[in-house]
Amino acid sequence: MVFKCQEDSFLKEFTSKVVKCEPTNEPVVEYGKTSPFEGFQVTLENTILFPAGGGQPHDLGWLNSTEVVQVLRKGDEALHFTKDPIAVGTVVDQKINWERRFDHMQQHSGQHLLSAILEKEHNLPTTSWWLGSDECYVELDSVKVSNDVIKATEKRCNQLITDAVPVNVKFCKANDPDLNEAHTRGLPKDCMETIRIICIGTIDENMCCGTHVSNLSQLQMIKLIGAEPGKKGKTNLKFLVGNRVTKTFQQMLDREKAVTGLLKNEPSKHEELIQKLQKNLKVANKNLQTVLLDLAQYEADKIKRTQPKPKYVIMFKKEATPEFNRAVIKGLEGEGMFMFLASEEPDKPKEGQIIIQGPEEHCNALGDKITELLKGKGAFKNGKFQGKAGDLTAMNKCKKLIEEYFNNL
Ligand SMILES: [Zn+2]
Repeated sequence: MVFKCQEDSFLKEFTSKVVKCEPTNEPVVEYGKTSPFEGFQVTLENTILFPAGGGQPHDLGWLNSTEVVQVLRKGDEALHFTKDPIAVGTVVDQKINWERRFDHMQQHSGQHLLSAILEKEHNLPTTSWWLGSDECYVELDSVKVSNDVIKATEKRCNQLITDAVPVNVKFCKANDPDLNEAHTRGLPKDCMETIRIICIGTIDENMCCGTHVSNLSQLQMIKLIGAEPGKKGKTNLKFLVGNRVTKTFQQMLDREKAVTGLLKNEPSKHEELIQKLQKNLKVANKNLQTVLLDLAQYEADKIKRTQPKPKYVIMFKKEATPEFNRAVIKGLEGEGMFMFLASEEPDKPKEGQIIIQGPEEHCNALGDKITELLKGKGAFKNGKFQGKAGDLTAMNKCKKLIEEYFNNL
């Protein structure tokens, strides 16, 4: 069956009668994301809401005031997924979410144009394509696509858009000799009875069940945004068409404005300034490490000079790094003290590194209790525990435990 949306892709409102309404729990798939659904599937005499197919996502819309959250083609029928049932025989006004549909039409017709130029002029056939919520891509049967090809293809496609080449739909039967000329890419098996061929001027003929623009000028422009390795031996060439170009450009401008505000300099200087900042940060970190190691030595000396000599050391400094703690331990080695040092992970304040070291009897008495309190991961090896702490909020409990243990000795 050829649906009303396939006869006229620009119909935004239509009236039709409900012929079937059945409960369903088939999930809703939105740009590849599956969500559970429980409701009804409504079949109408005809529909302007496009059921997903040929790489084009389903439409959204309304049947009177009932929202349609998904449309799927099953054989000859288009099933409209709704939360509430609609009685058979009801005549409903169909309305379409036109912004979404027109976006899909721009991306889909843009894909036909792009695939035609890549195949005919650069011998790069399209093996599949994807229309996502933000980006689209064509999967090309090649491990690499050169920047020269990308540039030339974008220029050629945009020239054809400027030339306002008409896009027409031809209908024919499965045994029609015209069919040999047209490609069958992305055509669902159940679309075979009456076949639609999308013709872009004399440039391309392609069998397709999707909805398309009627003139390339409606695409406004196409922007190729980069090639990435795809499945084995394939390349995904990403693209944006029409309103998506404007939308993405606005997002980029907003981001650039935010960065300009942060760097307090014009966009042409951003790269240079960020490189400078990164270099300065590297130097600052290196200096900090040197200072921290000096501080570790100072801390160790201070403890060594303390009278009477402490039996234990507990250290948890905010600025401490694992290197700092190791340096303190090294400075105190051979002093016969029980040492427990912790440091925070910079981006996960609850987590960190701990070191426990000292006379065997104290490590045996306290080690397991401390690591249990801190949800530590690691093991004692040669009288030393060095590992991760999963919960540093228990540090005070550990301090109390150690203090009580040594007070009671
Ligand atoms: Zn198509």
